[in-house]
Amino acid sequence: MTKGFRNITGTFDILPDRYTSDGSTVESSGAWRYVERRICDVMARYGFREIRTPIFEPTELIARGVGQLTDIVSKEMFTFERGDTNYALRPELTAPVMRAYLQHHLDQRGGVQKLFYMGPCFRAERPQKGRYRQFHQFGAEIMGTDDARSDAETIALMMEIYRVLGLKQFKLRLNSLGDEHSRPKYREALTKYFEPYANDLSQTSRQRLQSNPLRILDTKIERERELLSGAPTLLEFIDDDSRKHYESVKACLDDLGIVFEEDPFLVRGLDYYTRTAYELESPNVGAQSALAGGGRYDLLAMEVGNDTPVPAVGFAAGFERLFLALAAEGVTFPDSDSVEVFIVALGDRAQQWAFGEAVRLRAHGLSVAYDLRGRSMKAQMREANRQGAAKVVIVGDDELDVGIAILRDMDTGDQGSVELSAIRDALK
Ligand code: AMP
Repeated sequence: MTKGFRNITGTFDILPDRYTSDGSTVESSGAWRYVERRICDVMARYGFREIRTPIFEPTELIARGVGQLTDIVSKEMFTFERGDTNYALRPELTAPVMRAYLQHHLDQRGGVQKLFYMGPCFRAERPQKGRYRQFHQFGAEIMGTDDARSDAETIALMMEIYRVLGLKQFKLRLNSLGDEHSRPKYREALTKYFEPYANDLSQTSRQRLQSNPLRILDTKIERERELLSGAPTLLEFIDDDSRKHYESVKACLDDLGIVFEEDPFLVRGLDYYTRTAYELESPNVGAQSALAGGGRYDLLAMEVGNDTPVPAVGFAAGFERLFLALAAEGVTFPDSDSVEVFIVALGDRAQQWAFGEAVRLRAHGLSVAYDLRGRSMKAQMREANRQGAAKVVIVGDDELDVGIAILRDMDTGDQGSVELSAIRDALK
């Protein structure tokens, strides 16, 4: 390889062993796989089935589906052109999943569609801890119903995933955004409220006051947060049906004992949300505290070209922040990469035998390793330890000649000789 190439800033390699780079820990590929499997297990218990979509989509789909005025579309997309088409690396998966749902007429397969996904997403953000340019999301969507139970079910599913993985400290915030008529009214009221204070606002918020005043609610600036305490809230403007829907969602969560905090200023960055909005935060991951966010997005289907709305609700969560939060709480993962058997071989013929025997044992379902560099007995034992082998088979040319090997149990330290022909049974 050409000298000096490195991965692009804001991306990272996932290696067989965990490592630390620029102050951030990247978990091992085994830990990633463990977490992915646990997530898949919970998804299955909840009746969600996996969908995989391409990592690039027409830019137009993302722009419409996520919203032109969002930071994601206006500033953070990785786009490229080929021929007449402009493509974007997906910054999230809800719009792609909706595209697939509409394209493949999944609504005609009977009942609602409960879909989950996981995979990489791309946003050209300023990289920092918990914020990357290629990051990984998992998420779930229920498409084809506006029943409040489906909103609550996505929340219950999300909370179950974090519970199973061992996360204990978090805060769930909940709000309702009303329908498509509530927000314009609220937007107007908010503009009216903030206008007299325009000179007190930051430049960004002043711009937002013109373009999308709801985004001022996301502000982290102290003075603006003070102003917010007197601002009108969305709940004052939502329609009766949305209000009832919100009450039902809350009742469902109460029913399950899921603790949440109502946050009248929770709006989320994406434009297609209606009614329910929620966010899960960890107190332990610093500035990037949002672990997951979700809500109802009944208008997305029309935004991406469908004639009628498709009621739908779901959430998206980040793997990297999940790992940060778990690490902060001291949660560790079982090492799924350890081998069952390590063959220590000394001498040319024994090494050749180890090679063949490893392959034969693997064919019988055991995970087996051996030394590929012909090192000393001590070095091979160290390697067996490093790989977490439960059993070690030790064989030299002399043992080979008389058809025996030594079998050692690494946990107990017990060892004894076994006939080569009986090794497979002895390892069972
Ligand atoms: P969003 O689609 O912005 O609501 O993001 C959903 C979740 O994805 C967030 O709560 C984060 O956990 C994760 N996420 C979003 N952007 C990034 C990023 N740049 N780096 C790491 N995780 C991210």
